[in-house]
Amino acid sequence: MHLCQIHERDISQESLLNGLPLEEGILIPSVFERAAKRAGLSSKIQTRRLAQINPHLLPCVLIIKNPKTQENDACILYELNEQHATVGFSDIPESAQTIALDELNHQYQGQVIYVRPEFLYQTQALKIAKPSLHWFWGVIQENRGLYKDILIASILINLFAIAMPMFVMNVYDRVVPNHTTDTLWILAAGIFLVITTEMILKLMRSWFVDLAANRADVKLSSSIMERVLNMRLVHRPRSSGSFISNVQSFESIRSFIGSLTVTALVDLPFVLLFTLIIALINPILVIPIVIAILVVITYALSAQQKMHELSIDSMEASAKRNDTLYEAVANIETLKGFNAESRAQSRWEKATLFITRNAAKMRFLSASISNGATWVQQMASVSVIVLGVYLIIEGEISQGALIAAYLLTSRAMGPISQTAGLLAQYHYAATSYQALEEIMQRDVERPQGKSWVHQGQLKGDIEFRNVDFSYPNDDRLALSKISFKIRQGERVAILGRNGSGKTTLEKLLLSLFEPSGGSILLDGIDIRQIDPAELRRNIGYIPQDIVLFNGTLKENLMFSAPLASDEQIVNASHISGLAPIINAHPEGFNMQVGERGQSLSGGQKQSVALARAIINDPPILLFDEPTGSLDFSAEATFSKNLQTIVTGKTLITITHRTSLLNLVERIIVLDKGRVIADGPKDQVLEALRQGQVGRTQA
Ligand code: ADP
Repeated sequence: MHLCQIHERDISQESLLNGLPLEEGILIPSVFERAAKRAGLSSKIQTRRLAQINPHLLPCVLIIKNPKTQENDACILYELNEQHATVGFSDIPESAQTIALDELNHQYQGQVIYVRPEFLYQTQALKIAKPSLHWFWGVIQENRGLYKDILIASILINLFAIAMPMFVMNVYDRVVPNHTTDTLWILAAGIFLVITTEMILKLMRSWFVDLAANRADVKLSSSIMERVLNMRLVHRPRSSGSFISNVQSFESIRSFIGSLTVTALVDLPFVLLFTLIIALINPILVIPIVIAILVVITYALSAQQKMHELSIDSMEASAKRNDTLYEAVANIETLKGFNAESRAQSRWEKATLFITRNAAKMRFLSASISNGATWVQQMASVSVIVLGVYLIIEGEISQGALIAAYLLTSRAMGPISQTAGLLAQYHYAATSYQALEEIMQRDVERPQGKSWVHQGQLKGDIEFRNVDFSYPNDDRLALSKISFKIRQGERVAILGRNGSGKTTLEKLLLSLFEPSGGSILLDGIDIRQIDPAELRRNIGYIPQDIVLFNGTLKENLMFSAPLASDEQIVNASHISGLAPIINAHPEGFNMQVGERGQSLSGGQKQSVALARAIINDPPILLFDEPTGSLDFSAEATFSKNLQTIVTGKTLITITHRTSLLNLVERIIVLDKGRVIADGPKDQVLEALRQGQVGRTQA
């Protein structure tokens, strides 16, 4: 954050860190680069001794051992000379201290992170971000150094391949007739060298291919996950199971770029070279090879369309099957409760049957291509020999030349059949690529390079101005022309029949969806300008369906506040009424809540949700039926506890319970997505009672 200030990057902690793989809420060096990038800073980690640090690249970050806690920490290095260094420690980076180099050396862990601005300044006001690279090709491009090496290795391997036929030809034509064993040994030594080098090159090539694929794999899968988590909810896929399967299909791209067969493409141009050498021996020998190449290519191309269709069908079917599995496992209780297992089972079996049939067809097709190519290759070799024998009889070529031509024929045909075999894999990878490309092109909540208004702590003034909203793929307006203002510290209940748009209104306020018309302002700023992560940190939200994650209670509480102190946690659990549950359990805060929180009762989950919502002490509280699963006494405790925390906070709660209404001073009534009443609690309740406000229930 301090470096951002130095480089005049106005950005919040949430914008920097949200969604990054932190360790217990702490930014670690390997993730630093990604965080810095969000602020338009480019950074590089290096292992350097203090004396080697380039003073022109300061300020930079040093990884040190904190002298007090003895834990890994970081500091900013502002200046460095032979005796002293000026540093800012992580607790107060802005107050720089000058310390002796020896002392710093003692704490320094050997790693330095250089940071510099990434933007090109055009004018003071206009900053231009580096255009971001394509998610896939950009990463491949980053490995171009490795691919260059692979290319060079492949070229050399192919050139060396000429050595063997030449060796055999010379042995037949020169050594055997003249019995010159000296020449034989010299030739043998030469070929030994060539073969050995070829083997080393091949090993290196496969190592490099794997290395490049691994590097790409790590980067690609993290960027895919980041994209998935950052996706706007509007683009949320209709079916999670098939979405998951599309994301996972990345595996086939990975294995495609990681397989050595890709190098067959590099070998392709050498088909020409080998054919040329055969032509030099005798042009007539080229005829069978050209025919063979044409036959293989024609067949492989004609199978393309079918291959493509089959791989798309397979992909769709396995997406559907995954969907069935996902739904069944996630909702197993409901499924059993309604005796509906057979539906899932039959969907699963149908999909499986289709997939296996499809896979068999695909395998057969690709086997027919590769076996066909081998057959053609062998036929070409036989033809070369038959033709060659006639040429020998006519005295056109030597015996050695025939053998060389024979060996070169298989060399020339090799890449052709390999490429034909590659096509099968290619289609599967290409289909997955397309599915992923579609996911990667969807809008995200926080597009790269977008600058947000950074407010820090919000006060809690909320305004809806003529807000319209309809859900994607739904023409009806879920909210229509909603306008109201809620002042900081005001406590408001939202009432309305089921489906009147109450939850939708809260989702818009959380910026989970954007209004289709009008605007929502927080402290006078349109919420589209506030980083969603920063916005959500300022809002304590209790959703209608409370979902906890598998893990301990403490982990679930710290979910939105990874750096919360023990005091904060204890405090939040007291207010939320969680303390008695924790005290009664032998493991206390470390009790396991089970998958989706299933080892807790509905009421207990609601307490956890409240604690989770208030742990950050947010200025706005947004509740959706927070006491829906509580019994009367628990509800009374809940609203009593709530009384102590709502002071000074803006509270918006959806509720049908009177005890929560005691907390609020104003009521907004929604019906069919419109505000039909808005005013002081007593007046609105009275109007509702007298039936002046539609037939809305209170
Ligand atoms: P309430 O909270 O008042 O019961 P909601 O805000 O949940 O009502 O729903 C308002 C309207 O929006 C309803 O007609 C509902 O069918 C529709 N709706 C809610 N969620 C979605 C969604 N994810 N996709 C499409 N329509 C939705």
